[in-house]
Amino acid sequence: MARAYSSAEMIRRLIAFDTTSRESNLALIDFVRTYLDDPHVKSELVYDGERRKANLYATIGASDRGGIMLSGHTDGVPVDGQAWDGDPFAVAEHDGRLYGRGTSDMKSFIAIMLAMVPEFIAAKGQTPIHLGLTYDEEVGCIGVRGLIQRLAARPAKPRLCIIGEPTLMQPVIAHKGKRSLRCHVHGHESHSALAHAGVNAIEIAADIVARIRRIARAKRTDGPFDSGFTPPYTTVHTGTIAGGTALNIVPRECRFNFEIRHLPGDAPEAISAELRQFAATLLPEMHAVSTASGIAFEEFNAIPALATPHDSEVVQLAQSLSGANSVGRVSFGTEGGLYQQAGIPTVICGPGSIEQAHKPNEWIALDQVRQCETFFRRLIARLAAPAEA
Ligand SMILES: [Zn+2]
Repeated sequence: MARAYSSAEMIRRLIAFDTTSRESNLALIDFVRTYLDDPHVKSELVYDGERRKANLYATIGASDRGGIMLSGHTDGVPVDGQAWDGDPFAVAEHDGRLYGRGTSDMKSFIAIMLAMVPEFIAAKGQTPIHLGLTYDEEVGCIGVRGLIQRLAARPAKPRLCIIGEPTLMQPVIAHKGKRSLRCHVHGHESHSALAHAGVNAIEIAADIVARIRRIARAKRTDGPFDSGFTPPYTTVHTGTIAGGTALNIVPRECRFNFEIRHLPGDAPEAISAELRQFAATLLPEMHAVSTASGIAFEEFNAIPALATPHDSEVVQLAQSLSGANSVGRVSFGTEGGLYQQAGIPTVICGPGSIEQAHKPNEWIALDQVRQCETFFRRLIARLAAPAEA
């Protein structure tokens, strides 16, 4: 048997790997694979195209049937420009908290789950436990897509999934979806003294951005609304814009990125369709000057919303393991929408708070670590119970 780790020791170990999304996560994955090897838990890796990063998937128990998946992302957000009091990759403990990048989002969940592996094995339950570790969640839930593809090709995919994003161990059954889009306005350059001979790409873009703002306002005032979310409506905003080269040149190019964060059930396609239609109304005036001018939209990332039915097995399970009576909704996206889309009912429930995520001096309360251990011990007790099949 490999050396045993307490939860806190495993948290320290995982935080020490710098797995900022731009870095490889393979050192962490290798460590986990070796750790799982000794008790003969076989793991398989699903690499990215360059074999610089990998998802890890491992099953404890029978691999020929559904089972319960515990999933988390291994990557974290950069610490660049953040004022940390200590080394973000060396866990510091004080006042009942562990400090370090990823302590709340979300290496603690993964670490506690790994520290519990010997207990999962000892339970010898009929229901398998699947461990899923993913990469590049923070940059658009990229890695998990490969893992889901791999799972879909199997005769038995997980029956349900719990993702340990920080929710203070309260089951979260819904989150908004996100669409990321870019718009490229191709105008026509001219001397600004001859403005009539040009197609001003920035001004066309500004018209479209103003339309985005109008849609956002309509969502805010007219809904649809779901009071479980903050804010309780779909939001749309423009995040970056670039265009033009000099003040005395009518700008030929302008590019901007915008995103839609939509309620489950509020179709983001309707918003992009409205924008395309609006853009089409701008074209005749542009083409009158230059037929080569145009407007192109491209969706470059989509994370589906999560909406797991209240009465589903995974919600009941997460509630009974966490002891929570209520369920929550959050506004941040997770891999849960993708699992749900793949037919794996999913709940988000993990230690720590999203309030601490992505910030300098990120921390998790040791009490949260204990609550997560209790959650897993209850799961183990269920698995070991003869009634569970
Ligand atoms: Zn996260």
